[in-house]
Amino acid sequence: MSRNLVHRIGVVRDERYLEHKPGLTHPESPQRLQAVYRMLDQEFGEDLIPIEPRAATLEELELVHTPDYIERVLKTAEAPFTHLAPDTPLSAKSYQAAWLAVGGCLAGYEALRAGRGDVCFALVRPPGHHARPDGAGGFCLFNNLAVTARYAQARHGARRILIVDWDVHHGNGIQDVFYDEPGVLYFSSHQEGLYPDTGDWTETGRGPGEGYTVNVPVPVSWGDHDAVHLYREIVGSILRRYRPQLILVAAGFDAHIEDPLGRTKMTAVGFGRLAAQIMSRREAIGSPPVLLALEGGYGPRALAESVRQVLLALGEPEGHLDQEDVQTGLGADLVDRAVRIHARFGVWTEGGKTE
Ligand SMILES: [Zn+2]
Repeated sequence: MSRNLVHRIGVVRDERYLEHKPGLTHPESPQRLQAVYRMLDQEFGEDLIPIEPRAATLEELELVHTPDYIERVLKTAEAPFTHLAPDTPLSAKSYQAAWLAVGGCLAGYEALRAGRGDVCFALVRPPGHHARPDGAGGFCLFNNLAVTARYAQARHGARRILIVDWDVHHGNGIQDVFYDEPGVLYFSSHQEGLYPDTGDWTETGRGPGEGYTVNVPVPVSWGDHDAVHLYREIVGSILRRYRPQLILVAAGFDAHIEDPLGRTKMTAVGFGRLAAQIMSRREAIGSPPVLLALEGGYGPRALAESVRQVLLALGEPEGHLDQEDVQTGLGADLVDRAVRIHARFGVWTEGGKTE
């Protein structure tokens, strides 16, 4: 089926991501990506640019992770079933999937730099945003996007990188890695009180990184209109004023109303509108590359439909966005609170210091 996509979209996919098998009852199952890949074949066919993942090198992993921890992950190859954290079991081929998940993001980023596409979606597992430099957790082994950001800094001198995290959980791993520095601005919306119980409003960064961590905990009533309004106001302001040279998206879909882990009320269409908010404001700041990486999303059907809506939105032309913004009471309250907390830093609020 040929679709009219105005942006060229790459996708990273590989059957070896299905070889990470955390157990039959574990929510982070291979069926998640199977459903997504089946949808890609049925709905998009040849319209997307296939990007081959590669294994990350040790040097690349060490941009974020300690050699000891990398060694611990590698050792799990010897066991048919083991754990690196109570909620993060591994099968014998999990280490390989983890290496390729990081490398898939790096390959996607490199493809964008080489002009192969405007935007790329790395459809990988295991997810990454909870992984810490020296530890696994929350189903994550290596921090796929943190390594990608460090790589962009080290290899290509990127000085301003935005990481947007719309997974229903807070990406504590990403936050920790960049908490002290202004070169990576981390924005997360996440359900309050959920694992890993970080990402409070008051966590705003430290030292030179003050104001470059933006957390918005949301109540379980959080739905599409609230999300679109919040992203339009806050992520829109961040794009305009921070002017990132690279945009990374921790794209988890567990804020979906049907998700078994998240309790919030978003729909697949809503995630597409969040992607459109980013794409439509990107040209005004020089069209930086956009790389999305799959994080959570535990109902395979809802996940595949959400990814489909995001891919369709990524391919859309600009325009008409203002008409879809419905200001909700919750959305407005969240924006007000974020602006109140962040005004003194002036990183993305009006009258600040970054321009
Ligand atoms: Zn999640």
